[in-house]
Amino acid sequence: MECAYCNNTIEGRLIKTKEHIIPNGLIRLFPEEDITFMKERAFKDNSGLTIGDVCNVCNNETLSELDNYGNRLIGNHFMCSLGIGQNYNNEFQFEFNFHLLSRWLLKIAYNYDRVEKSDSNWFTDNINYILEGEGSFKGNFSLFAGLHINMLPVPEEVHGKLSLSIIKNPKLLPLGVTYGLYNKERNREKTISSELIENIYIFRFSSAAFLLVLWKDGYDEEKIRFEEKITRLFTFEKLVPEHDLYELRRVSEAFNCTTGYGAISGKQGLEFSERLIKHSIHGRNFWEARAKYTKLFSQDFFDEGRRMIEAIEFPKNRKQRRIERKKK
Ligand SMILES: [Zn+2]
Repeated sequence: MECAYCNNTIEGRLIKTKEHIIPNGLIRLFPEEDITFMKERAFKDNSGLTIGDVCNVCNNETLSELDNYGNRLIGNHFMCSLGIGQNYNNEFQFEFNFHLLSRWLLKIAYNYDRVEKSDSNWFTDNINYILEGEGSFKGNFSLFAGLHINMLPVPEEVHGKLSLSIIKNPKLLPLGVTYGLYNKERNREKTISSELIENIYIFRFSSAAFLLVLWKDGYDEEKIRFEEKITRLFTFEKLVPEHDLYELRRVSEAFNCTTGYGAISGKQGLEFSERLIKHSIHGRNFWEARAKYTKLFSQDFFDEGRRMIEAIEFPKNRKQRRIERKKK
């Protein structure tokens, strides 16, 4: 077997290792949340989903350096709930190392594709950039960042929190998901896409949301047009190698807080959804409504509800069965 990164045959001094899809360092930040969400399935895994085609040198050296950067970035800056009080439409400043962040997210996307057994030729051509960095940078991807902020009048736990998730090829809807539910026909015409896009990934890691777009050959002009559209119609901030500091804004609407990022709403969509939810709580602010709701129920109540749902949804889970055995 050959290593998916360095291409060397795994034998002798090279040992086969398990590489996590969602980095272990991130999973450990959420000990209660061990459900993996992939495109068409969700499952509860006790130690985090891994893939076993990576050699010990790649895994323990380059890939673990990238994980160190990414895990620290999320752990140190994105673990709090942003936008409490009236601050959910504010800009918040963050610092990124473009190449470390890009290579980390590309590595995660590549791992995800291999687990999904989908065509990963794009990555084969870009392995050098993931392993070696800046010197092998081709510019054939776009990267955007934004913030996940709870826009429900209740705590996210009520719906089962999705703090760590990777979604492939989400729909990009300038007028928004909620708007689309009320105006089906009009929204259908307004999806943003391109024939020259290989794949799009959205990563939600706690309060951070990253949008990664991979381009096929001949992308140059189309990439400029697409990035201009995303910047104009959505609240995502484009990341570039020349800058470290960015002002990030909310990219989430209520829909993303209950069902994740299968679709992403543009500026107009976010405003529409915000007005609608505000109306439903009679103009109170989200923070007040949530505080009131939280007072009514204890954390134990949410935890018990979650255990019951997981026992039904993931009956074959080892950890779940252990808990049940202990009860008996
Ligand atoms: Zn290797």
